[in-house]
Amino acid sequence: MDDAERFGDVFRAHGGALDLTQLPPPMSIGLGEQLAFLRAAAPDVTSGFILNRAFNAVASLRDGREFLGIFVGAPLLLARFAYCFLSDPFTLTQIGDSSAESVRYDTIAALRQRKWPIEGPWEYLPRDTLRFHAAQQLCFCMNLVLFFHEIGHIELCHLEYLERETGVRDYVEMRASSASQEEALIVRTLEWDADHTALLSSLKAWKWFCRRYDYSAISALGVANAWWTAVQLLFWTMAFADPHDEGRPPTHPSPWTRIVNARMVAQSFGFVPELESQPVTGSADGVLDWLLRHRLYDVGMVTAAAGPKSVNAVVQELAEIGDCYRAIVDRLGRFQEAREKRTGRRIQRPPLGTPIA
Ligand SMILES: [Zn+2]
Repeated sequence: MDDAERFGDVFRAHGGALDLTQLPPPMSIGLGEQLAFLRAAAPDVTSGFILNRAFNAVASLRDGREFLGIFVGAPLLLARFAYCFLSDPFTLTQIGDSSAESVRYDTIAALRQRKWPIEGPWEYLPRDTLRFHAAQQLCFCMNLVLFFHEIGHIELCHLEYLERETGVRDYVEMRASSASQEEALIVRTLEWDADHTALLSSLKAWKWFCRRYDYSAISALGVANAWWTAVQLLFWTMAFADPHDEGRPPTHPSPWTRIVNARMVAQSFGFVPELESQPVTGSADGVLDWLLRHRLYDVGMVTAAAGPKSVNAVVQELAEIGDCYRAIVDRLGRFQEAREKRTGRRIQRPPLGTPIA
């Protein structure tokens, strides 16, 4: 059995491998480029897209081998958000001719009904060429963060940890079943851990891409602010895809906490002076304004996730995660040592105490 067959076999229950050659050229080319990047970023992991329209990803261990499947619904939804964001005449007006744009209400309405079909239609693309390219580039940056996050679950040994603790072999990003309060806190901590490495790795990769290729479409924003906008769009899209359910404990930190954490990580990275003048959250880049203006969050979600979450709530959540991280980090480290012996690769994990704001 070759790698492609093995991948399809491991993820058959989720929909199996997506055959890129069956897609129309713009989509097969775009997804093919994303896949090439994903495989280059994690050469030890057998990775690919799964034929499933939901926003999700799953990492698995099978006979000592690591597999990562990204549901194709994830890049599709990220693309919808990025392109609709730039096809609004009131967002990022410093890029291109925003007066040429008009809001694509049909696509927005479909998104509210949780529909983002694989076959288009494509009327939501920005009309202005520069804004179209800017949307493409923001979308690529969103995928960078998502991919590094999913690779992080594998390289930081979250799979081994959960397998030993709970007997579960797969790490599914958006879970259908509910977890106990204690399990949910551990998963939120692993999510924070994966975010930390994803934010640092994506910022490095993004700066490299912007230097090496033509990223002039986002030059009005600046490299760091474009990354910052993409990070906010990604975390709100993930919250949109997996809305907070009061009836079960959350398995991801709130989007506010993830965004505040992203700023802390970017500042620890350094060399991003453009971010210094930007508020942590708010309307400077228009992401949240845009989401609320188009009711991409309903009233319940606005209260739970998009409302003005207090600074104290974010500090409290990061402190809880910090306590949990201190309790499990040694075990995670031992799993990483074993993995390093096997693969020769090891990524740095956040230092102790980092989540304490
Ligand atoms: Zn995750």
